[in-house]
Amino acid sequence: MHIVFAASECVPFAKTGGLADVVGALPPELVKLGHEVTVYLPLYASVRPHLSGEWKYAVRSITIPFESYNRFVGIVDGGLRNGVRYYFVDCPELFDRQELYGTKTGEYSDNAERFGLFCRAVLEASKQLGVPQIFHVHDWQAALIPVYLRTVYYFDPMLSGAGVVLTIHNAGYQGWFPPVTTERLLFPWDIFTMDRVEHFDTFNFLKGGLVYSDILTTVSRKYAEEIQTPEFGNQLDGVLRKRKADLRGILNGVDYSLWDPATDGKLSAHYSPANLAGKVECRDDLLHAFGFDHVADTTPILGIVSRFATQKGFDMLAQIADQLMSRDVAVVVLGSGEPYYENFFKDWMFRNPGRVGAQFRYDEALAHKIEAGADMFLMPSRYEPCGLNQIYSLKYGTVPVVRATGGLDDTIEEWNEEQGTGTGFKFYGYSASDLLAAVDRALTVFKDKESWKKLMLNGMAQNYSWERPAKEYSDVYDEVARRRG
Ligand code: ADP
Repeated sequence: MHIVFAASECVPFAKTGGLADVVGALPPELVKLGHEVTVYLPLYASVRPHLSGEWKYAVRSITIPFESYNRFVGIVDGGLRNGVRYYFVDCPELFDRQELYGTKTGEYSDNAERFGLFCRAVLEASKQLGVPQIFHVHDWQAALIPVYLRTVYYFDPMLSGAGVVLTIHNAGYQGWFPPVTTERLLFPWDIFTMDRVEHFDTFNFLKGGLVYSDILTTVSRKYAEEIQTPEFGNQLDGVLRKRKADLRGILNGVDYSLWDPATDGKLSAHYSPANLAGKVECRDDLLHAFGFDHVADTTPILGIVSRFATQKGFDMLAQIADQLMSRDVAVVVLGSGEPYYENFFKDWMFRNPGRVGAQFRYDEALAHKIEAGADMFLMPSRYEPCGLNQIYSLKYGTVPVVRATGGLDDTIEEWNEEQGTGTGFKFYGYSASDLLAAVDRALTVFKDKESWKKLMLNGMAQNYSWERPAKEYSDVYDEVARRRG
């Protein structure tokens, strides 16, 4: 089957979060199953270094009409990589920017035009380069593809047979824009109703995608249930409940060719379940990266790698920050995002030099070093559609301490001392004291070297490779093709 992926992020070209990891790893796995896969991405500034030599245009110019002007978009051929074809939508005035969605001062004001154009360009390009059986679109940025397809492209004989699968990577980001977006993107006003794209008097990209796609998926079974409730649905729970029969939870895999301590090129030493010695060297390397000179070998290191957003639950950590410092523990943090959380970590670090270290940037290599060098990995998320870091942590023998939500609940099993089962520590309430209790349970087990080793090895034995989820997606594509056929 030919499947077109349309997304705003993909490793290694452009990344702000887990979406990029998924769009990078799933297509090659689908190719292994015999599918033909094409990935479309905007040609951001970060894509340019990946395009060597003179650009090869697969399509020189596509006209994308707006109300009173046209934009002209090229499709740059990114070639075949691991059997996957990459096309980049070239519209420099909209995409040739350092950031993907906005700067520290806010979102780009033309995001509706940027991603509206992207969606239309994917449809137009595929008419010239190959219409797939399935458009697999990701998050709000690509969610207008099904809306165009089932409205203004409805009578297009080339496109009418194509099915659409939409994957929700995070229902907290929906693409809300003013009502006038409807006509700016040349949609008829009759789609601006409550049962279509209108949402509390905004034009809502994701809602449009939820209404017009054939099948919806999200990135864990638990999150698929959660988003149908008012607490997690971000006001889309009603629409999602209506589409319950077409909503599937497929847990993300991880790319073990990048995330395996036995082969990880970003580490100072390698290790595996059979020989854990290298983890000690990774720990020293990590302490060095944070300039910690006096952390005892017996002191556990708690690691955090994260976007700083309310979703990630660091407000709870702030409440117990001082109590945590009364325990024997060191903390290393890598992340960036909302200034409120950066300020909290900065302040915590300055009050606890040599014990709390925080670095505020995006740094792939340091993320790997933390996964390897830390003893525990903290994810107290308010909600977490899948979460990748806890799955990386399992493989790295770095024990996850997580809130039991979404993919965190699906992937981490509480340690059971008597039976020697489980892979981490989890807490349920959104409460700082529950978080502290979970960390305390981890600190207690850490003191018992034998139990801790068993716990680490339980995690390292887990297998979250893409093989199984790829098969599940493949079944979803078959189901859509059957319905359309
Ligand atoms: P989300 O998509 O909500 O950000 P995920 O856990 O699904 O959360 O994915 C986060 C991904 O981004 C992981 O691959 C993680 O290692 C990476 N990441 C997050 N922040 C940073 C950072 N500051 N530096 C390097 N990698 C980061």
